[in-house]
Amino acid sequence: MIKQIIFAIILLITLSVFAYTAFRYYRFFRLTKPFPIHNWGKRIVVMFQVAFVQTRIFRKPVTGMMHALVWWGFLIILIGSVDMVIDGLFGTERALSCLGPVYSIITASGDIFALIILVLIIAFLFRRIFMHIKRFSGIEMKHISHQDANLALTLILLLMVSLLGMNTFYLLDAHAGGHEIKGVFPVSRYLADLFTGITGSQYHFWHEVNWWAHITLIFLFVNILPYSKHFHVFMSVPNVLLSRLEPLGYLWNMPLITEEVKKMMDPDQAFAEPAEGEEEVFERFGVKDVEDITWKNYLDSLACTECGRCTEVCPANQTGKLLSPRKIVMDVRARMKEKGPGLVRDKDFDDGKSLIRSYISTEELWACTTCNACARECPVSINHPSLIMDLRRYLVMEESAGPAELNAMFSNIENNGAPWQFSPEDRMLWAEGLQVPLMADAVTQGDKPEYLVWIGSAGAFDDRYKKVSREFIKILNHLKVSYAVLGTEEIDSGDVARRAGNEMLFQMQSLQNIEIFNMYEVKKILTCCPHDYNTFKNEYPDLGGHYEVIHHSEFLRDLIDEGKIRINSDTFRNDTITFHDPCYLGRANNEYHAPRSILQAVPCHTVEMKRTKSFALCCGAGGGQMFKEAEKGDKEVFIERIEDVIETGANIVATACPFCMVMMTDGIKYKNKEEEMKNYDLAELVSISLGL
Ligand code: SF4
Ligand code: SF4
Repeated sequence: MIKQIIFAIILLITLSVFAYTAFRYYRFFRLTKPFPIHNWGKRIVVMFQVAFVQTRIFRKPVTGMMHALVWWGFLIILIGSVDMVIDGLFGTERALSCLGPVYSIITASGDIFALIILVLIIAFLFRRIFMHIKRFSGIEMKHISHQDANLALTLILLLMVSLLGMNTFYLLDAHAGGHEIKGVFPVSRYLADLFTGITGSQYHFWHEVNWWAHITLIFLFVNILPYSKHFHVFMSVPNVLLSRLEPLGYLWNMPLITEEVKKMMDPDQAFAEPAEGEEEVFERFGVKDVEDITWKNYLDSLACTECGRCTEVCPANQTGKLLSPRKIVMDVRARMKEKGPGLVRDKDFDDGKSLIRSYISTEELWACTTCNACARECPVSINHPSLIMDLRRYLVMEESAGPAELNAMFSNIENNGAPWQFSPEDRMLWAEGLQVPLMADAVTQGDKPEYLVWIGSAGAFDDRYKKVSREFIKILNHLKVSYAVLGTEEIDSGDVARRAGNEMLFQMQSLQNIEIFNMYEVKKILTCCPHDYNTFKNEYPDLGGHYEVIHHSEFLRDLIDEGKIRINSDTFRNDTITFHDPCYLGRANNEYHAPRSILQAVPCHTVEMKRTKSFALCCGAGGGQMFKEAEKGDKEVFIERIEDVIETGANIVATACPFCMVMMTDGIKYKNKEEEMKNYDLAELVSISLGL
């Protein structure tokens, strides 16, 4: 009975401390902004795949398996802990043994996992203390982060030692007393042989010592976790359950801006005073500090394991720039810890600091290429780029503090409908000498072209990519595809403005485009640009634009599959071609197959880069980087990428994106490889092979 009373008191203290901690976090969550959650059915499937089957973590098979074993073991051992709590409270002995054979399975697997976890934790500790693993270092990884990790690992180690000790002495005690053994212990029965020198009366004592050690360590662990990086043990499953389900390329819409833009576009509304009783809402655009983040951003920061997988794959970080996506997430957590208590007391609390600048520098923010490599890798489904974009939105829309080159790009889009200083009247110069039907003419003549071919700003104005537009149009003409272009009615899609933080400009472009698309009753949009493809497909629907959007690689793949394109020429037979996956086609929209199908149809040798498909390195141009100087670092991202290309021995690098093409071209020039290496868009490879 005394044991039960002591146990109940310890349990009560544990639960009270935990409840206090949970309440503190709850108050911080209440400071944040809403974030909508839908589609629970799909969420549960994702949670099962990512959190329980650990699909993400297996992207690194060896360490993935090690982590997965620890996690699965933890889940099994958790059931044993429930058993101990029941025993502690009610004075029973292995209460869950009423489950019969199921209990045998639970105890047997718990016993085996205890040994596996013990060995793995020793390996993890050895790795952390003695091996220099790059992803465990970085400016954000302070001494305390390492101490914290080592403390948690040591606690887990002690938990496993005490669990095996408890099982071993339970077996010895039961044998000595002739009691029935409840459960199966395949590891501990061998360990029991090591303790045969101990007399029977001591078995019970050592069982009790290990039992109490194990349960008090669990209670201690439960209350230390919320203050350590191992809080993810609790937070990762809910974080995965509540993670975004949209394609990685999608960025949230800002409805407040939509309202503003719609008013601006409607002359009757533009200068209208608010109706009587209607209050104007003044809300900060973007994120400046923790009170601007959503509760999901905060949950992300608590779920972060500080594993560094995001930073390890970040092209900006790899090339020596200040940006580390892990740091961005950790900064949110640290800032809330600093400012949260003040905000709880007074919602207008101001300590003169902010998340931007005091924690995250603008240099970090402007180094992001929005490649989504970090988000693809994160084992707990954190989406870093969307937070980076929200921070940029604040800088651009509230402070007009974007880099000067980006401000110039914004002006160009506003004035010319393109990021460069070209006249809108020149939008069709790329097509000189080609038969290219205009949508306006087609509709006037009563035609309804099946596809709107979206040329895009780069396709219309970039000297290199104009050639790709021409080759693609030649294929369409050759196959007599029913299409038309907008010509001088086309303006920039707004993608680059959005990624550079100018949501207002993005929506102005988008709403105008949607108006034109709807005027022509456009149903299908065909484009060579993965950025515009992503925007039309994933983001225009939020503004009322719903279309079937097809990237030219998918279109060409389908024509090849249908037998409408047959390539028999030997033009590239002696060439070795490697394909660079554009981030906005690959990671953002999961399209890896179509480009490779096209390459299979062109007689040539193909070779993959070491970082390919979802692991592909960005070219360095996304997220507005194309229009600005790169942030300070050791090298430019495109150089790192072209080195991957060179390593394959390929003499042609194929791309399917105007930005990638510019970067690959620059890389080839930088490496003085213009003689030995060429880059072609997929459309060019097909068109040249067809002899068009
Ligand atoms: S999106 Fe790409 S560049 Fe930006 S933080 Fe993530 S990995 Fe780095
Ligand atoms: S954000 Fe994700 S990938 Fe990055 S350190 Fe945290 S858990 Fe690891």
